[in-house]
Amino acid sequence: MDSRRKPAVVGGTAGVPDIEAAARSCVRTGDVWVFVEQRDGIAAEVSLELLGRARELAGRLGVKVGAVLAGAGEAVRGLAPALVARGADTVYLADHDDLAQYLALPYARLVAGLVRRQRPQIVLYGATTTGRDLGPRVASALRTGLTADCTDLRIGDLELKGVVTRDLLYQIRPAFGGNIIATIVSPEHLPQMATVREGVMVMPEPDEARTGEIVDVAVRRGSVAAADGPILLPDGDFAVRVVRRVEEEKTVDLKGARIVVSGGVGVGSREGFALVEQLAETLGGVVGASRAAVDAGWIAHDHQVGQTGVTVRPKLYVACGISGSVQHRAGMDQSARILAINSDPGAPIFSVAHYGIVGDLHKVIPLLIKAYRTKGSAAVAGAASAAEGGA
Ligand SMILES: Cc1cc2nc3c(=O)[nH]c(=O)nc-3n(C[C@H](O)[C@H](O)[C@H](O)COP(=O)(O)OP(=O)(O)OC[C@H]3O[C@@H](n4cnc5c(N)ncnc54)[C@H](O)[C@@H]3O)c2cc1C
Repeated sequence: MDSRRKPAVVGGTAGVPDIEAAARSCVRTGDVWVFVEQRDGIAAEVSLELLGRARELAGRLGVKVGAVLAGAGEAVRGLAPALVARGADTVYLADHDDLAQYLALPYARLVAGLVRRQRPQIVLYGATTTGRDLGPRVASALRTGLTADCTDLRIGDLELKGVVTRDLLYQIRPAFGGNIIATIVSPEHLPQMATVREGVMVMPEPDEARTGEIVDVAVRRGSVAAADGPILLPDGDFAVRVVRRVEEEKTVDLKGARIVVSGGVGVGSREGFALVEQLAETLGGVVGASRAAVDAGWIAHDHQVGQTGVTVRPKLYVACGISGSVQHRAGMDQSARILAINSDPGAPIFSVAHYGIVGDLHKVIPLLIKAYRTKGSAAVAGAASAAEGGA
């Protein structure tokens, strides 16, 4: 195990945990679960991405993939087979009017109740507003650990004081402001749980030939429980009522874009972003930004690429006046092709760029636009080297 992957241990709940004893007694035979977030019968993309990774993890462990799906009516019911096609072996479907809208307390009660009965060894959530709300509540109810905002998940071993614990979930995420990549494990508690960032895992293609089981989960409003009866949702869990749902249109779809042209501090001003927008429009792409440009108020947060923004994997990523901090690179270094324009030849962005232009973006971008408009995409690389000489 290289030092980058040396796991830190989390998940103790009372006093100093006897890790060795707990690790020995923790029998990890359960399945790998994904909580599937849905709205109007449409699954969140991150949930489908997680099903793909859950398949890989379950394959390593020799167990099955479970999907937890909650909601009300035909829309949510209709989604279940699609989850099988994306990798679930079992869909635990809780279809009940009281689950029509996501509410923290009833949903946490449902997921914790199901976990107690089925005992999965891993439960994954998208690091969305819902996942970040739900995951910690379930962790608290089950007295287990949870790593927030993971960017990678793997299976590996832990050696601690001579005791080797096999097949733990490595919960990998940037830490200390993104300066290190931490690998976190939870050897003494089950299930191992993590929220995972959107867009960092590849979404599996649906395989309509896959077969799986759809298990109806009995749910009832009330408080007198029987061990194997329905999962009960007490009235007290409905202290919050959804009065109205207001959906704000996204100003940009960075995740789905084939070409992203991003601007950073080097752009110089809000007005300077017009040049970045022109290049994006010319190439048929969308506009992204570094956090520093967002913080300066030059562009809306929806456009931010990076650790605390959106993770993108376009065919082409153009970084204009962006230094390439580790936090920015975390959101774009999986792009198929990266072109960096920067006046500083030592800028870290060049370490991940496939093509680099050292020069003033205010001179380089107009040349690129002109070259593309007159000669097409094949000419951009040529224009790039011309710009490099002239800028
Ligand atoms: C917890 C945490 C999370 C963060 N999350 C994110 C995130 O999600 N996304 C993100 O981007 N950052 C994030 N950051 C901030 C990050 O550390 C950097 O501060 C930020 O990315 C810098 O933005 P920048 O590259 O635009 O600015 P700078 O680092 O200031 O770089 C500007 C670059 O422009 C170049 N330049 C200047 N003038 C010109 C010109 N005329 N032509 C060409 N090049 C020029 C300079 O040489 C320089 O390389 C995060 C930080 C922390 C601590």
